[in-house]
Amino acid sequence: MRITVDRDRCEGHGVCETAAPDLFQIDDEGDLVFHLDGHDIPEEQWAAATNSVLTCPVAALKLEK
Ligand code: SF4
Repeated sequence: MRITVDRDRCEGHGVCETAAPDLFQIDDEGDLVFHLDGHDIPEEQWAAATNSVLTCPVAALKLEK
């Protein structure tokens, strides 16, 4: 499973951080930090990752299986 971020859409709401705090963080500037953008996500994070995709209010996260 992979997730990509549409940086043009992302508004830094941080809902994804709440859903998957081990994957997403909002930095001091209010920008999203996601080190696994486009890379394989560890299986133990799949449920949280899926939640983040489903709850992003602007649909900035895209799931690829
Ligand atoms: S929830 Fe969506 S808009 Fe908010 S920081 Fe995460 S990816 Fe960006």
